[in-house]
Amino acid sequence: MPARHYDAIVVGGGHNGLVAAGYLARAGLSVIVLERRGIVGGPCGRVEYFPGYIGAISNSPGALEPKIAEDLELERFGLHFNRPNPLLVAPFPDGRAFTAWREKERSVEEIKRFSAHDAVAYYAFFDYLEWFAHRLGISVFEPPPSLPDMLARLKTPEDEEAFGKIFLCSIKSLLDERLETEEIKSLIAALGVVSNFVSPSWPGTPYMLLQRPLSLASTVKSEFKNDPRRQPMRGSTGLPIGGMGAITDSMRRSIEASGATVRTESAVAAILVRHGAARGVALASGEEISGSIVLCNVNPKTVFLDMLDRSVVDPAVRTRFEKLKMTGSAFKIGLALDGIPRHRAARNDGEVRLLSAYQFRCQRRSKNASAGRSKNASRLTAGRPPRGAFLRPRLFLGWTVG
Ligand SMILES: Cc1cc2nc3c(=O)[nH]c(=O)nc-3n(C[C@H](O)[C@H](O)[C@H](O)COP(=O)(O)OP(=O)(O)OC[C@H]3O[C@@H](n4cnc5c(N)ncnc54)[C@H](O)[C@@H]3O)c2cc1C
Repeated sequence: MPARHYDAIVVGGGHNGLVAAGYLARAGLSVIVLERRGIVGGPCGRVEYFPGYIGAISNSPGALEPKIAEDLELERFGLHFNRPNPLLVAPFPDGRAFTAWREKERSVEEIKRFSAHDAVAYYAFFDYLEWFAHRLGISVFEPPPSLPDMLARLKTPEDEEAFGKIFLCSIKSLLDERLETEEIKSLIAALGVVSNFVSPSWPGTPYMLLQRPLSLASTVKSEFKNDPRRQPMRGSTGLPIGGMGAITDSMRRSIEASGATVRTESAVAAILVRHGAARGVALASGEEISGSIVLCNVNPKTVFLDMLDRSVVDPAVRTRFEKLKMTGSAFKIGLALDGIPRHRAARNDGEVRLLSAYQFRCQRRSKNASAGRSKNASRLTAGRPPRGAFLRPRLFLGWTVG
């Protein structure tokens, strides 16, 4: 017989599972998180690539929702950011580089080095996205609306036009309409294609840029400390001190302080179902844990094909999951360096250090970055390796513990 009953069992201790557990525990429910690995965090958790060189699979904390960080009091539980200035360096094949700064005036001057027109159009573009997110009136903290419900929110011809451009057109066409230099367009277009096997010419790519505006439009309290969403330059969140794993470590401390239990080395093998409802889980060790709610924060294919008994899953649903294609679109290479790389764009020794410390983006050698990525996306979807790649390297100086 199970030793203890929980109000909620969370299967998988990735950051989404930890966040769910945090809110449930703060609402007074008894919660247990069961994580297969020895650490929480999934790809966000710490990885020791080489002895003494610690990092994570993921590298960008920009998607961390400020409301969640505040509600779970992550700062109180040890999450602190280093907020470098500049935020981002994007070197170009011709030896120039774009450097983004926290101060808008400084970034405007930087964009002007490429185009005076784009220095205005860049910010106007992000204002446009924020305007549209407010028009949609969707809250990221509520269940998503149905498509008809969303369409019903479009009241004016301007709303409808923006919907068409953002959801149905490509980031390339939108940027071609608004900006004039390939370098500045490529800074934004990169965000539209991230994490997907798509090129900037694919319909729907502008939507990726709507995430921060939607978050802003959903937030009743508009100002959080160091709110990265107010900076339309990537890299604004900064770097968590201790690496990405510091985010999920602080989540773990926060939810444990709220009374939740987090168990690592506890792989769930099966979800136990009685009378048509989940009633607990069985661990790979054979131990059973009983719960009124089972929240799964693992791949849905694993849940429906492996964890649930065949008899309790509708065959049509099973078939859909069997057919669900899984293709990765990102990978990470860890390099231990014996010194700071010297970027060609750095004009003196001071800039070598300045430009190296922060996120920088590289793209293939092409005058027209959008066209280059379109060709690459076609190669990738055809199962062939890209010629040159869109890289998002990050140097984490001072991360070595050895
Ligand atoms: C190479 C790469 C780079 C990325 N870079 C970024 C980035 O820079 N920024 C960003 O925001 N996102 C990044 N992502 C995406 C990000 O990692 C995912 O969006 C995120 O991990 C999803 O979180 P999750 O909590 O939903 O699931 P996961 O993080 O996948 O967590 C699932 C957890 O469940 C556990 N688990 C699995 N099976 C079981 C089981 N049977 N029993 C118990 N536990 C189990 C796993 O060990 C894992 O800890 C990257 C992804 C990849 C692949």
